[in-house]
Amino acid sequence: MLRIAIQSKGRLNEESTAMLQEIGISVDDSKRKFLSKVKNFPLEVLYMRDDDIPGIVANGTAGLGIVGLNEVAEKGFDVKIVKKLGFGGCRISLAIPKAVDYQGPQWFNGKRIATSYPEILKGYLKENNIEAKIEVITGSVEIAPAAGIADAIFDIVSSGGTLVSNGLVEVEKVFFSEAVLIANNDITEEDQAILDEMLFRIDSAIFSRDKKYILMNLPAASVEEATRILPSMRSPTVMPLAAEGWCAMHSVVEEASLWEKIAQLKAIGAEGILVLNIDKIIP
Ligand code: ATP
Ligand code: MG
Repeated sequence: MLRIAIQSKGRLNEESTAMLQEIGISVDDSKRKFLSKVKNFPLEVLYMRDDDIPGIVANGTAGLGIVGLNEVAEKGFDVKIVKKLGFGGCRISLAIPKAVDYQGPQWFNGKRIATSYPEILKGYLKENNIEAKIEVITGSVEIAPAAGIADAIFDIVSSGGTLVSNGLVEVEKVFFSEAVLIANNDITEEDQAILDEMLFRIDSAIFSRDKKYILMNLPAASVEEATRILPSMRSPTVMPLAAEGWCAMHSVVEEASLWEKIAQLKAIGAEGILVLNIDKIIP
């Protein structure tokens, strides 16, 4: 039975479960313990601390895992990174007390840097020819400078609020991470087929994200121009209306450009514009 290891609690748990639900794999949340079977898909879900997921996948206890790329890079296990999943985005950065007159990475020479990511940090220091002392701490890294444990920190940043409240500033963005689907290097052909089906569904889910279905009435004379504004997947659907000289047009639009497109469509006479959510797109 193919197993997927996901974080049992924490920042990636909810979105990992949601990702599985989104691709039609119903994970039984209520009875969640350590291991749970999926009813409608040949998969078992194993709930772990995120630190343990790369190792569990590397040794084959689970064929698949969802974990932050940062954990994969830090642990250094040999696993396949199958897909970036587009959630859990963050970066690991060097941050220093805000009073420091910082001129560049060479400032870190001879300094002590506190981090939970010593391996990623070692790689960065080596690449930049910096000799610094790494102090490994597993939690509350951001208090290390104030506590006198280190001169600087190397830690996960998403909004930067934690840094500011500890009197620190981010000076080097070193590693960019997001949740990834990882796989054991030697999964069986049978498990590979299950993974392929999951990937097909994940691609569709990722493709559907941030897209809206848009329909409107349009003067027939504006169809060509509207097609240029809304190129759609192949081309938009255009249907004549009972009223002469008018048609209805249906298309798909990226949410980010929605209002800009609506303004352009209104300018060429579009009326009765409807924007709907899309559940799935199979390109
Ligand atoms: P666990 O108990 O499973 O070991 P944890 O405390 O190590 O959990 P979380 O804080 O839940 O880990 O973070 C899990 C992952 O979420 C991180 O490794 C990282 O990839 C991602 N992440 C995204 N944004 C952030 C953030 N602002 N802070 C920390 N992690 C983040
Ligand atoms: Mg952890």
